[in-house]
Amino acid sequence: MTDVRDSASSPAGNIDIAQTFQIENVNVRGRLVRLGPALDQVLGAHAYPDAVSVMLGETLTLAVTLASALKYEGIFTLQVQSDGPISLLVADITSEGAVRGYARFDEDRVEQVAGEVLSGGAPVPRLLGNGHLAFTVDQGQDMDRYQGIAALDGATLSDCAHHYFRNSEQLDTAIYLTSKLDPHNKQVRAGALMVQRMPGQNLHADVDEDGWRRAVAILASLTEDELLDTDLDHDALLFRLYHEDGVRAYPAHRLFHRCRCSRDKVANTLKSFPRAEIVGDDGRSQVVCEFCKADYTFTAEDLDALFDPTDA
Ligand SMILES: [Zn+2]
Repeated sequence: MTDVRDSASSPAGNIDIAQTFQIENVNVRGRLVRLGPALDQVLGAHAYPDAVSVMLGETLTLAVTLASALKYEGIFTLQVQSDGPISLLVADITSEGAVRGYARFDEDRVEQVAGEVLSGGAPVPRLLGNGHLAFTVDQGQDMDRYQGIAALDGATLSDCAHHYFRNSEQLDTAIYLTSKLDPHNKQVRAGALMVQRMPGQNLHADVDEDGWRRAVAILASLTEDELLDTDLDHDALLFRLYHEDGVRAYPAHRLFHRCRCSRDKVANTLKSFPRAEIVGDDGRSQVVCEFCKADYTFTAEDLDALFDPTDA
């Protein structure tokens, strides 16, 4: 834990981070998330329409923010499913900080609403419609699999997250989430600020109440430009926002893009089906990873090696 005024980091160190901070004089814990180059890599495997890239950037940022507030060893997954132009958004993050994600969508339907959304129209009703967001934490075979679910109720994913926190018996939480396409370089930059009121000792309940309201009001005053300005050090941003109540920042966690697919995993999945069900007319089997577009093709000879000939 470092006092934010003492730390200095390079501009490159200001992005692809998830940082926990504590507002000292009140019982408030927060998270600051910024995604850039890691997001470029997630999106680089695809040629998504801009509106889809922006939504996936926001989904990934929400996933990182929610995951950073949990203690877990494993994989946190956020899925948004709906009946709208974008039918599925998937984002996951490992406890090491590896992120990946993908989207499924109807190109024509996205095209019809993209202009409105990119010029500031409410994205959730236009791009997603009716549906829900769900998250799971996979900590391995013998561990718990936590799950949360919320309806897509709101104009933005931030609104939907607010509803989730309000309707579940969680800590009081405020979250600001943004994802933006730079029209010049076509890069998506995304970020989030979340504050949570921690269970208090009740010795200074009135102080905590005022402090919580102040923390939320300051969050509401944050602009998209401030959050996404990587010339502004993340520690400096936290200091600018919360110095009056004293803010301490924990070392930022680095985020990076990495897919977990492999030829072995695909082979194991194929083996779990009867050969006749997974083989194409040409005798081969092709699987493309939805996250990173890696192409795993198994020839007839490869499949011979995988399957017992008596099952063929
Ligand atoms: Zn992959």
